[in-house]
Amino acid sequence: MTALLTVADAHVSYGKVEAVRSVSLEVRPGEIVTIVGANGAGKTTLLNAIMGVLPLQGTVSFAGTNLGPLDIEDRVSAGLSLVPEHRELFATMSVEENLQLGAFRNAAAAARSFERVYALFPRLQERRAQLAGTLSGGEQQMLAMGRALMGQPKLLMLDEPSLGLAPRIVADIFKIIADLKQAGVAVLLVEQNAQAALQIADRAYVMELGEFVLSGAAKDIAADQRVIASYLGFQHEEAAAS
Ligand code: ATP
Repeated sequence: MTALLTVADAHVSYGKVEAVRSVSLEVRPGEIVTIVGANGAGKTTLLNAIMGVLPLQGTVSFAGTNLGPLDIEDRVSAGLSLVPEHRELFATMSVEENLQLGAFRNAAAAARSFERVYALFPRLQERRAQLAGTLSGGEQQMLAMGRALMGQPKLLMLDEPSLGLAPRIVADIFKIIADLKQAGVAVLLVEQNAQAALQIADRAYVMELGEFVLSGAAKDIAADQRVIASYLGFQHEEAAAS
């Protein structure tokens, strides 16, 4: 199947420090792909560069279009969206106003997007008049994802969606990610919770010190001895003990 997103030989630097080195990846339509790696491996940097927030050397193409010359807004229009690690909601605006900011300017398309987002996150509909800053952490993550979905992306990039959330809420968020796949949205997922990410993903890349060191089917990566030792060992022991 032709890839939706193709990144070829990407390099991203902060001044003289190269945070992403020679990274290539693919996400196919409707696929969940995860990037696992330790703190500081370069995962956030890579997502931001794909979105156009940071300059990238190399090639990024999306649905057959070279994204190089496109600014962030045009990348969103092309069908790419990023939910950043810190969610970046407007705290003093309501849930509905935050969602509106992610909507198409076309009123009919916006109405359809609201319907779709509220169907996926009934909690946001219940709380649509509440100020974003007063939502719980899990609700804020849902709102950040909902806002990104208002633009009807073909590919949603999620940076640490489970960060700081209680296990039960993490399970809800992962269930929604699986629902998105069913709805035909491809997902590029960056997660510290490698166990949960590898369970839900079709394919995975392992990132260390700015480079991909391993890639393959998520179930194969989850069974890899080095991955178990570095990223899953403790969680495996916890799961076995509970
Ligand atoms: P985490 O899971 O902790 O967010 P990460 O894999 O997402 O880690 P990045 O945040 O992309 O990693 O960071 C990759 C490297 O780039 C790190 O060494 C980090 O210190 C460095 N870095 C990140 N942002 C900047 C910045 N604005 N200026 C300089 N260096 C940065």
